[in-house]
Amino acid sequence: MRQMDRRRFLHGAAGAAAGLFSLQDLSAAIQTATTPYQRPRLKITKVSTAVVGGSLHCRIYTDQGIFGQGEAVDAISGAVPIIESFRGHLIGRDPLNVDAIWERIRTAGIFAGAQAGQYITALTAVEIALWDIAGKATGLPIYQLLGGKMRDRVRMYCDSGTNNRKDPNAQKFINQIIDMGFTAAKIDIDDANDPARFDRVNWTANNQEIDNMVDKVAFMRESLPKHVELAVDMHGRYDLGTAKRVAKLLEPFRLLWLEEPVPPENVDAMRDVRESTHTPICAGENLFLRHGFRQLLEKFAVDIIMPDIQKCGGLLEGRKIADMAHTYYIPMAPHAQASPIGTMATCHMMVAIPNALVLEWHWGHPASRHEQWKVYVKEGDILQKGYIYVTDKPGIGVEMNDEAVRKMLRPGQRWFDT
Ligand code: MG
Repeated sequence: MRQMDRRRFLHGAAGAAAGLFSLQDLSAAIQTATTPYQRPRLKITKVSTAVVGGSLHCRIYTDQGIFGQGEAVDAISGAVPIIESFRGHLIGRDPLNVDAIWERIRTAGIFAGAQAGQYITALTAVEIALWDIAGKATGLPIYQLLGGKMRDRVRMYCDSGTNNRKDPNAQKFINQIIDMGFTAAKIDIDDANDPARFDRVNWTANNQEIDNMVDKVAFMRESLPKHVELAVDMHGRYDLGTAKRVAKLLEPFRLLWLEEPVPPENVDAMRDVRESTHTPICAGENLFLRHGFRQLLEKFAVDIIMPDIQKCGGLLEGRKIADMAHTYYIPMAPHAQASPIGTMATCHMMVAIPNALVLEWHWGHPASRHEQWKVYVKEGDILQKGYIYVTDKPGIGVEMNDEAVRKMLRPGQRWFDT
């Protein structure tokens, strides 16, 4: 029984004992304060937002003092007014019916863009805040509400700040990846500024560009110990012929994956690349909802999927996408660039799904990013030697350090309800 409920309940019981209430009064008092099995009764009272760096943070408040915090990334430029537009579906509602609220907002927005994009990303921040409330109200970590945990920790990979032998910072950054205990790293090999490019718009790579790409992979593979796996990102820019040539040439490096060698929208083209190579293919950071992943899975166009859990629809939608992928024997390696709030939220999902591979960490290079990461939540640095241990505290289980994060607020943006 929650504290306020208990107070009301005791007040009623004491009154009855003093003969002020009849038994009927006592029964009514109990029913008002509790529900069967002491399910907490909450109502949403307020919704507010703050845009910090590349993150949209959302706070949802309730009539019993509990508030939840959620985070969205990437597709957030219009998210503040979109979340404003959700208020009618939130205020006065029971926040514990997370999926019902989510589905109501999604289906209400079918003419407002609720199939993908910013509408879904804004909804994602709300969904995660609702899970935080549900965990705090029931005294359970979110992973427990998503089915319980299959593992205690989530393997992280470091998005590398270096990728080539001419970079004066290369050895320093590579040493950091090793010293921080990572067992996987990722580099980008698409280069809009490669001097060998003939055309600023068309993305057909010539032999020199392809040699430059392969050399970046060779350099990183030589520099990292064998136990540190390497993933490579092409950011969905290149044409089909280039994608197939690069995927083939990278086979000897036994990559963890090659990411979006072509854009993900044409699933048949992605499948053509996958069928042409032994290099594992990964895609999905710009796809939304289960619907965005359906054909990718049905057509066996990828070996690994990588939804962004702060973007694609939220924690339960992430779990549903993972479950769909699991029936095709495909693992999930989410894209992520969220703060420790969103990252820990994603970790609750990652420990609850069977097919969790590895999760992205984007805060290593330059070092100032890591300093921001370390002070973002009151718990300090949640990254431990290349892993994040999921917390057993209720809800997301990490608390924003308002004083530190407020200094990172985007200029001109409001800080929640102030
Ligand atoms: Mg990517």
